[in-house]
Amino acid sequence: MNRQVLLLCGMIFLLGCKTSKEVFNPPSIIDKPIVFNEQRRELTLQYMRERYGLEKKEPTIVPKMIVLHWTVIPTLEKSFEAFDPPTLPNWRPDIKSVSGLNVSSQYLVDRDGTIYRLLPETIMARHVIGLNHCAIGIENVGGTEELPLTKAQVQSNIQLVNYLSTKYSIDYLIGHYEYTHFENHDLWLEKDEGYRTQKTDPGEDFMKKVREATKTFNFEPVPNK
Ligand SMILES: [Zn+2]
Repeated sequence: MNRQVLLLCGMIFLLGCKTSKEVFNPPSIIDKPIVFNEQRRELTLQYMRERYGLEKKEPTIVPKMIVLHWTVIPTLEKSFEAFDPPTLPNWRPDIKSVSGLNVSSQYLVDRDGTIYRLLPETIMARHVIGLNHCAIGIENVGGTEELPLTKAQVQSNIQLVNYLSTKYSIDYLIGHYEYTHFENHDLWLEKDEGYRTQKTDPGEDFMKKVREATKTFNFEPVPNK
């Protein structure tokens, strides 16, 4: 290769870098960690063992999916308070069939679009039955009729999906209401067929907007039931 060709290749490479940086500018993220003490760690490992049959030393995940949610709690602080304690409210340790691990998610987006990271992205959070072992959760404050999710939240979810999908090999982007479509999928690990909850979050309109803006990633379609 002569010098001119080399130079041209170099310029094309640099241009490529610049473009991808412009498209996937990392969003500003504020770390606001929930309690992850020995008890939460143990409960997470127990959840993985008992519900998924995964024997692990550390409660880590390999992200393959992003699941979007709403909290149906009107404020950031109240939403945070719901996820912060390691154990479920009213949990009774004597009921062995019910895991005491509290619900949470790796991300929480406030109504003005501010993004908070509650847990490292590769630590398991309990936010979606059957799929927690491979799913990063993004919770959005609000979601009630009086407090529908905001445009700022749509934008922040788009930024987060861009950021996470550039960082990890993400195959699926789903709304929580779609999770039961994975019941016969290889990724589905929940053993108890009776353990299901009905979900509508974060709404079809919200999903449509985030999907439309992130379609360059060519996520796999949600399986048919
Ligand atoms: Zn949800």
